Amino acid sequence: MPLTDKFGRSIRDLRISITDRCNYKCVYCRSGSDGPQFPEMAIDEYLRIARVFVGLGITKVRLTGGEPLLRNGLVEMVSELARMRTVESGALDIAITTNGHLLEDMAQPLADAGLSRVTVSMDAVDPGRFARITRVPNGFEQVLAGVRAAQRPGLNPVKINCVLLRGLNDDQITAFGRFARDEGVIVRFIEFMPLEEDRVWSPEIVVTLHEILQRMAEFMPLREVQHAHSETARRYLFEDGVGEIGIVAPVSHPFCGHCSRVRVTSDGKIRTCLFSVREHDLAAVMESGASDDELADFICRVIDHKEARHHIGEPGFVPASRTMVHIGG
Ligand code: SF4
Repeated sequence: MPLTDKFGRSIRDLRISITDRCNYKCVYCRSGSDGPQFPEMAIDEYLRIARVFVGLGITKVRLTGGEPLLRNGLVEMVSELARMRTVESGALDIAITTNGHLLEDMAQPLADAGLSRVTVSMDAVDPGRFARITRVPNGFEQVLAGVRAAQRPGLNPVKINCVLLRGLNDDQITAFGRFARDEGVIVRFIEFMPLEEDRVWSPEIVVTLHEILQRMAEFMPLREVQHAHSETARRYLFEDGVGEIGIVAPVSHPFCGHCSRVRVTSDGKIRTCLFSVREHDLAAVMESGASDDELADFICRVIDHKEARHHIGEPGFVPASRTMVHIGG
């Protein structure tokens, strides 16, 4: 039986952060001056962790960061993951979330190694605004070249994640609609969550699902299409059939009831929820000389502690014990 928590949710998606270093300094994420804080494990150790989780029923592995394309050995890691078989003896679904800055050169080797999908974080399609948000000059052209490079070897559909903040980039919504249609990518808007370094989040900053739909409908009407329960994004097609957008609405429309995710941080801690205030030290168990079966037992016990849901915006909300750049989304 696949990994299941005490609420009966099947845990199928493993997200591994392979570094908390990043070559971008986005104003809503790296809002403090912390920089990288946690050690990285060896690629072989992440592979062992993935192998044990796959043996417990994981079918999707997403590599995250910081910025995962900064990590040496990434291509080799993807090809090792591509050799793994799920318990149903199917191919593993391997994805990467990247800021796209290094993607132009790496898309082909990653696709050849067996990568299934790529998600690129972009919070503006206006180069000037992009530079102000990322605090990196000329990044927009570089990332756009990366997105197009990923489409060539068939890493389609390339998904674009855009975190919306009121007053920062919410005027980019219809421009992103055009971008999705012109570039043939799926743009997913994400409601801002309280996971930034300086803890500046407030409900007023959040641009909600309803607002995004209203704004986009001014550009062109949308129709909602079915999405799998465990998918975080609601899906919408433009009425003329050209182009698709998604909305990830954890604040206004939480989807915790169908959560299928578990995360491992760059230093080998298991986080059963993005908003966990407690972590479980898998790396220490590995260092103690545990066998793969003992690791599997530890993981099963940990999944029993998986939180029912987040409590964003509720009285008594306790911020996550790490910020997003140190978790990896
Ligand atoms: S907030 Fe936690 S429980 Fe809810 S969907 Fe995200 S990871 Fe799952």
